[in-house]
Amino acid sequence: MAHLDADIDAHLRATEDARLESYKAFLRIPSISALPDHADDCRHAARWLADALTEAGLEHAEVAETGGPPIVYADWLHAPDAPTILVYGHYDVQPVDPIDLWTSPPFEPVVVGDRILARGAADDKGQVHAHIMAAAAILATRGRLPVNVKYVFEGEEESTSAHLGPWLTAERDRLAADVVIISDTGFFEGNLPSITLSLRGIMYAQIDVVGTDVDLHSGVYGGAVQNPANALSQIIAGLKGPDGRIRIPGFYDDVVPLSEEDRSAIAALPFDEALYQADLGLPALVGEVGYTTLERRGSRPTLDVNGLWGGFQGEGSKTIIPAHAHAKVSCRLVTAQNPVRVFEALRAYVEEIAPPGVRTTVTLLGSGDPSLTPLDHPATRAAARALEATFGRTPLYIREGGSIPVCASFGSILGLPVVLLGFMPPDAHAHAPNEWMDLGNYETSIRTIARLWAELVDLPR
Ligand SMILES: [Zn+2]
Repeated sequence: MAHLDADIDAHLRATEDARLESYKAFLRIPSISALPDHADDCRHAARWLADALTEAGLEHAEVAETGGPPIVYADWLHAPDAPTILVYGHYDVQPVDPIDLWTSPPFEPVVVGDRILARGAADDKGQVHAHIMAAAAILATRGRLPVNVKYVFEGEEESTSAHLGPWLTAERDRLAADVVIISDTGFFEGNLPSITLSLRGIMYAQIDVVGTDVDLHSGVYGGAVQNPANALSQIIAGLKGPDGRIRIPGFYDDVVPLSEEDRSAIAALPFDEALYQADLGLPALVGEVGYTTLERRGSRPTLDVNGLWGGFQGEGSKTIIPAHAHAKVSCRLVTAQNPVRVFEALRAYVEEIAPPGVRTTVTLLGSGDPSLTPLDHPATRAAARALEATFGRTPLYIREGGSIPVCASFGSILGLPVVLLGFMPPDAHAHAPNEWMDLGNYETSIRTIARLWAELVDLPR
């Protein structure tokens, strides 16, 4: 751990035992947001956090009612010439089932070697705690933070975040900031320091193809009418070419191409393609031509059939022309793609290619915006410098194939860039039995956050 600020590091060393006790106390609160029986525990965790924020020297700590588990807010705003950082994390945790697979009770944290075991140790209480401890250490040694910081800790992330969006909208003025730091992700395989640059969005639709009111006899009617299942297959086959390119006109219009730097950052990720394929037990990996497997998995859009049904599904044979056929189709979206625009383009294209003789409709079932903060964004660069200074190596850059809906909310509601600076070990068993956090990661993450606030002083505003 090179180049640490000596005074802050000395303070952190002197307070390590007390910090671990505080971490454990937070982990002992069974704040499972999905289970109504734990509603009081969620409130307890929220109050605990508000107290911890105040004790750290942060101000205006508040347990804000939302209609769901409360949102905890606090801030420190005494750096008028410096940027303002919004920190997001969540204090709720996943349920603990199957409980018999835990080697120790999930809400009785234990330290085993370098690890602390408990539900929430990594996702996300450990990381929330690290943020508070970083502020506490800077304020205790220097009396002031180098930047303004606003903290938003949610209690409903593991069960849909239903009340976060409306709260962010209502509090938009108070939450004004220059960048959002979310610590709810992890390091790359091998516990290598990483920054998650992007998350894919999603557009989820259903295609319904309807012919007659009831199934028809295929001997009597076959040859005279359109078969909805055949028609649906024809539509689906038309959506994507053999080169893996999606054929919907305009689909790629808002995809920001990868830069040379992006492509080399992806190529730098330790990834064994043969092992990946062997683990999946597949004869080959396929996808859009011109891109590597990792590029296709994280930074290119996709179109997949998620479900397909229609006609006779039973054993043996039944000679019918099905009355109707259906498919669930979703697209993972990247960079500037907009789910609603993508849906409209899909609907128009399906209308265009749908065979005659049946009625075809396309319905939007769900959507989520993609999120990307580029590699060369000043906040990404600052986070990279902070990781390098504290973990002693240049971070890797991950482009996550899935989605974290809250991340897109900060982008779309507050209009802020989001840096995903998470410290979870990749095999931390988040959401599974025996969740753990590496205590080394935890301690170093506190120093990284402290360092990051100093690195962000010059963030263009
Ligand atoms: Zn989480």
